Amino acid sequence: MAVAPAYSEYTDEQKDIIAMVRQFADEQILPNAEHFDHEDEFPQDIVDQMKELGLFGVTIPEEYGGMGLDLTTYVMIVEELSRGWISISGIVNTHFIGSYLLMKFGTDEQKQKYLPQMATGECRAAFSLSEPEMGSDVQALKATAKKLDDGTYELNGQKMWVTNGLRSQIVFVLVRTDPKADPPYKGMSCFIAEKEPGVSENTGEYAGFIVPPPLKKMGYKGVESTELVFDGYKCPAENILGGEEAGLNRGFQQMMDALEVGRANVAARGVGIAQRALELALRYSQERKAFGKPIAQHQAIQFKLADMATQIEAARLLTRKAARLKDAGESSELEAGMAKLFASEAGRFCVEECFRIHGGYGYSKEYEIERLYRDAPLLLIGEGTSEIQRMVIGRKLLARNKI
Ligand SMILES: Cc1cc2nc3c(=O)[nH]c(=O)nc-3n(C[C@H](O)[C@H](O)[C@H](O)COP(=O)(O)OP(=O)(O)OC[C@H]3O[C@@H](n4cnc5c(N)ncnc54)[C@H](O)[C@@H]3O)c2cc1C
Repeated sequence: MAVAPAYSEYTDEQKDIIAMVRQFADEQILPNAEHFDHEDEFPQDIVDQMKELGLFGVTIPEEYGGMGLDLTTYVMIVEELSRGWISISGIVNTHFIGSYLLMKFGTDEQKQKYLPQMATGECRAAFSLSEPEMGSDVQALKATAKKLDDGTYELNGQKMWVTNGLRSQIVFVLVRTDPKADPPYKGMSCFIAEKEPGVSENTGEYAGFIVPPPLKKMGYKGVESTELVFDGYKCPAENILGGEEAGLNRGFQQMMDALEVGRANVAARGVGIAQRALELALRYSQERKAFGKPIAQHQAIQFKLADMATQIEAARLLTRKAARLKDAGESSELEAGMAKLFASEAGRFCVEECFRIHGGYGYSKEYEIERLYRDAPLLLIGEGTSEIQRMVIGRKLLARNKI
């Protein structure tokens, strides 16, 4: 039998980067996450260190000042950050989607203008599809952009649930540019809407861009989720993603493409939170005694640990496969949907099993699992719910297996 090379999950470069990010999570994120979570405070110090480590430019090409790494390495990094605290990965994630949109669809001018500042984290990005009356059904969006006589576009409407909505400097926002388009997706465009980071009522050139106070959430604290109100906000035509000629009414396809990498990204967050839940469960179950022995010696608890570890391995493999396909230039819509569905459900499952293993202490704010328990459900919703993933997977399966 032929001898295969020694099995390794990582290249040498990936090993070094992952070791660095894991150490960062162990030393900087995990010891501070409870404080920031309980106070619902933005983790500015951690974000400043992430800028220094270059974590805002992981996938941005070196020519623009980024690390130029692939999606596979990126999902490994996101797993480690999420193992620390999913809010930290949330600060990076919409930024990553924005840089992906620019790299894939942006004009040279748009890349030159934004990518170098994005690579350092100086300029951070948000991604805005959802509205108060629409999340899953993107074609039902209502916000509009209308061309004015001076050639600029006027944006009006309301957006919802925008992660990094306040502190971002640019928002990739999908709006309707041709209300008569049939089907509606053919009349939507993505604008790169600029504003003053950290400002609620923008004035001057950004007048009409309003960021209401952050939404109050069950978990996913520290990172803000906001509404956005566009009230006569003027955006130059050159801020249509890809330029007016190539980008007008192409926004829906651009955003759906970005959701494919976004789903691999959320899957990695599911793996990270599940991994942390397993670590906590392994430790607690060997410390806590019941009926004369550590609870880890009871078979029922061992079965929980076994199911958790197995789901995590499967979720990790699905996530990396989706990322590898995308890196290889192949469509990964099916695989990214499977990875997102399986890994987010694995995250919820593992967190709940860990909670059960903690008994009453799992319900106490003194234990880390309490935070994970509030954070994990978000992953079932963002970037498309589990129901929507099943629809994507089903549709793709049928398309690939037509009779
Ligand atoms: C903390 C947080 C951060 C977020 N960040 C962002 C962000 O940065 N940018 C952004 O654009 N959005 C963001 N979102 C929004 C998120 O993407 C949406 O909440 C999600 O897409 C679901 O949309 P919805 O809430 O409107 O639910 P709905 O679409 O109203 O769905 C409600 C329920 O109906 C189900 N459903 C809908 N359609 C079908 C169908 N055809 N068949 C079966 N079941 C169906 C859904 O699965 C769900 O269970 C965020 C959300 C949260 C909670």
